[in-house]
Amino acid sequence: MAVYCKDGKTIKSKKSKQCEVLAAAIDPDKKMVALTFDDGPGRYTKQIVNCLKKNNAKATFFVIGSQIDSYKSSLKAASEIGCDIGNHTDTHPEMTKLSEEEIKNQISRTDKKVKKVTGKTPTLVRPPYGSVNGKVAQAVGKPMILWSIDTRDWQTRNKEKTVNAVMENVKDGDIILMHDIYKPTKEAACTLIVQLKRKGYQLVTVSELAKYRGYKLTKGKVYHSLQKR
Ligand code: ZN
Repeated sequence: MAVYCKDGKTIKSKKSKQCEVLAAAIDPDKKMVALTFDDGPGRYTKQIVNCLKKNNAKATFFVIGSQIDSYKSSLKAASEIGCDIGNHTDTHPEMTKLSEEEIKNQISRTDKKVKKVTGKTPTLVRPPYGSVNGKVAQAVGKPMILWSIDTRDWQTRNKEKTVNAVMENVKDGDIILMHDIYKPTKEAACTLIVQLKRKGYQLVTVSELAKYRGYKLTKGKVYHSLQKR
């Protein structure tokens, strides 16, 4: 049960009775959503991380292994503010067309690269193109996170359209798909972080959303949203 201070932005600590900005102060009774960014890390990742940090918000980055070497510090920064780093394969293939061994290699190569930079092995996978079948589910061996709101930011490359795609449809438990490799998406993300918070949404990672909405994420299972059940 969160007790908010007069400013509505900070929370009263039980121990010290003082107003503190607590990163872990997620109120399960309040609305929450997960912003997710695919195909990075890229040239706009760090700016998105800065917007998140400034607003005490978090997101999930589903990264491509082959991108990591060029943007190590961005990836590290995202992890350091408490964002989830998920696995989006090494070279972004359509995994349904690969052999089981190739799928396993795609996942393990990116796992290793992320671990090397952040110290943590990704627990979640987003299959490129949302393309999944039984073979993929078996070979990936981790929960697979799809989305409930597709901003189509890669197609429109338009800040307003990306913002509207979210604000006109958002509800508690949504998983929102964006790509942190486009400038309009970076601009949209920074606007969305502020607007969603203003509407009472907490911006949490996919793992946090699952935890607070009572889901135990299971290996090989596909999730589109994590709404209260
Ligand atoms: Zn992708």
